Amino acid sequence: MDTGKVITGELPHVVIIYDDKPGAMAVLAKLARQMVTVQLIGRPITALDFADLLAADAGVLVTHGTWALQGQNVTARAAELASIVPCFVVRPPLDPEAGPDPLAPLLGFVKFASVVDDAFIQTVVTEARQSRAARRMPGPREVVLAIGAHPEDVEVGVGGILAAHVFAGDDVAILTLGQDGHAGSTGQEARAAAAVIRARLFLDPVPAARLASTSDLVDRIAAVVDEVRPTVVYVHAAEDQDPHHRAVHDSTCIAVDGVRTVAAYQSRSSSVRFQPTEFVAIRAFMPVKLEMLAAYDAQGSGSHPDAKGVRITAAYWSRFAGGGLVEPLEVLRATSAADDPDAAPGTWSRLSAASAPAVA
Ligand SMILES: [Zn+2]
Repeated sequence: MDTGKVITGELPHVVIIYDDKPGAMAVLAKLARQMVTVQLIGRPITALDFADLLAADAGVLVTHGTWALQGQNVTARAAELASIVPCFVVRPPLDPEAGPDPLAPLLGFVKFASVVDDAFIQTVVTEARQSRAARRMPGPREVVLAIGAHPEDVEVGVGGILAAHVFAGDDVAILTLGQDGHAGSTGQEARAAAAVIRARLFLDPVPAARLASTSDLVDRIAAVVDEVRPTVVYVHAAEDQDPHHRAVHDSTCIAVDGVRTVAAYQSRSSSVRFQPTEFVAIRAFMPVKLEMLAAYDAQGSGSHPDAKGVRITAAYWSRFAGGGLVEPLEVLRATSAADDPDAAPGTWSRLSAASAPAVA
């Protein structure tokens, strides 16, 4: 039974995405009397940010029903939002004479309403509250630092995991050591990719060609570790054919002395000796990962040239873990309280709990 009490210290956050402004204002007026925070997104909806969606505990899409005229972006993003948190669509009753339903791709993902009454508002608030409780409950918040030799390495290796951390309320920072990378990727693109999840980005000014295992590299990594003070660090695996990746791995292992949890991710140049022991379900966050990678789209096609390969890789590793799509990790160090039954769940089981499908 819903008592109207707030479960966590922070209020659930509801995002209203609209092209029907009067309709959105009606929803806002009713939600404003509830114990929730509300964000209105009515700017050109084609520019809808993933970062806004990752902050949401529930989404309400208020539309005249003509979104399809603006292209596929809105319905695609709405479906992505609905795979992460409860999602609702408010629109006028459909005219059966008017042809195919432009929002048909959302059927099965979201709950539709044509009347914004008290029962509807209570459903939104209750589901937002449950969504937030499920996301916040397990474990303390983490401070995450993902380290890569080149722009794009971190996004390929742990882009989905980083999105899951942001969704779980963790702080995420990225350290990219070489300004120039694979296939001409650049620091500018690294900024755009980090902005997708509003991660803090540290871009080391030294050219990637000069990356080598030196005390100087250890010092540069240690300086960022000192500033971020991470509880979790992700880095290249040792078993990698790229000498820059190996140098960053070796130097990071020295620089992160004292960090509680350290894990290595897979790169395109990982050797067959990459042996992951942890598999994190990222199905709900694959669209975010692909959006981060799309920032490295040198051809301007709007998507990453290897989007298919990224999906196939995530599907391949899921054979060891289930969950549809996963990112693999070699756990290098995990200081856990596994013997204590009352201990908070570990870093990644907590993420899996947070990223479980929100809508049955
Ligand atoms: Zn690289």
